[in-house]
Amino acid sequence: MSTAAHTVPGPSAGAAVHSDVVIVGAGIVGLAHAYEAVSRGLSVTVVERDGEPVGASVRNFGHCCITAQHGELLDIAYRSRAGWLRAAESTGMWAREAGAYVVARSVTELTVLEELCAERGDDVVRMRTAGRLRNTLGAPAGHGGIVGGAFLPDDLRVNPRTAVPALAQWLSEQPLARVLWGTSVIGVETGVVHTTRGPVRGDRILVCVGHDLDRLFPEAAEDHGILRCRLTMARVVAPDGFRTDAAVLTGTSMLRYDGFTAQPSAIPLRDETEAHSKELMDIGANVMLTRLPDGSLIVGDSHHYGTTAPPFLDERVSTLLIESIADLLGVERLEVVERWQGVYASSARGPLLVRDLAPGVRALSVTSGVGMTLSFGLAAATFDESLRSTV
Ligand SMILES: Cc1cc2nc3c(=O)[nH]c(=O)nc-3n(C[C@H](O)[C@H](O)[C@H](O)COP(=O)(O)OP(=O)(O)OC[C@H]3O[C@@H](n4cnc5c(N)ncnc54)[C@H](O)[C@@H]3O)c2cc1C
Repeated sequence: MSTAAHTVPGPSAGAAVHSDVVIVGAGIVGLAHAYEAVSRGLSVTVVERDGEPVGASVRNFGHCCITAQHGELLDIAYRSRAGWLRAAESTGMWAREAGAYVVARSVTELTVLEELCAERGDDVVRMRTAGRLRNTLGAPAGHGGIVGGAFLPDDLRVNPRTAVPALAQWLSEQPLARVLWGTSVIGVETGVVHTTRGPVRGDRILVCVGHDLDRLFPEAAEDHGILRCRLTMARVVAPDGFRTDAAVLTGTSMLRYDGFTAQPSAIPLRDETEAHSKELMDIGANVMLTRLPDGSLIVGDSHHYGTTAPPFLDERVSTLLIESIADLLGVERLEVVERWQGVYASSARGPLLVRDLAPGVRALSVTSGVGMTLSFGLAAATFDESLRSTV
């Protein structure tokens, strides 16, 4: 899964190239904006400090969680869905209209899903029997206390390991675009991005550095209350019989996405989960999984917040999550292939930071853990000029 093909050192950034748009950060938010800019006939330079993508955009589940968004984010998510599918067609990256399953293991969980179904309609939220869900998960009959669930057909699956590298590769092949790897941005002002390889000039500058906004623009990050959210993740061998590319969410997921939390039964669900799954609540768990194209499963996750992200992974957190997934799938144990920590920008003040920092300079960070879901929708809104500064 190496992305070494992309570790091309940036040319002298000072080369006298002027772009319509300069983007700081080659994560999904930056590259979706670059893709959208090129699609609209604009020239783009992307400046990335690392030699290949290693940020939040390659560490996640690759679940475009469309249906469980709410309000303005729901509109952005549906727009993003169309953008992902278009970009997948252009670049050949792996993306599937695979949907998501939400497994209910209590009547309260099932009620939240029924309420969402009543709100959105049964084309968008398709209720499923326990037997059908067990069959999809490959779980033994009668296992796991599954009482039913729902299938959300509009959700997408993408491969987080290859989506961003594929987009970067595609961009680097376009006459209108260039990606400068290994080039750190040290300052930004109207019309110019200062980098460790010299200035890069452009009419419009978009700063898409996720949680690292506080390294470049600490006041903007502080105004929005940006914290680093750390997540414990693992990749495991899929048990025999597991047979879906759809994301698989659980009751703890229903406490994390506003489409679910806006339902009346989300309040009793929180109380019930606090009472019955206190250990999971204590680590901010969202017990969920996705399958990679090689058949292995990405499983997680936990949520811990702070201004700085300590590097150490608590084995008890990892064990609790993996045991929860094993329990869901009805197997005794799961073979772990990899573990890692993901970090994304988070804020209690709102799911998005969109801030105009100077004329022609805008910062964009998704501060709610759904940047894969929203990226292409945000990019379209940016170039339509329909995204207002939120701070
Ligand atoms: C474990 C985990 C699971 C997740 N699961 C999902 C999911 O299933 N669905 C979903 O929608 N979202 C998910 N998310 C959230 C999603 O991954 C993020 O919201 C999204 O990837 C953020 O994209 P980004 O481009 O802003 O950040 P990043 O991918 O972190 O990219 C920012 C880039 O900016 C670069 N950069 C920073 N500072 C500078 C500088 N000074 N100069 C040059 N370059 C710089 C960094 O090197 C980095 O490459 C998850 C996140 C994690 C961590």
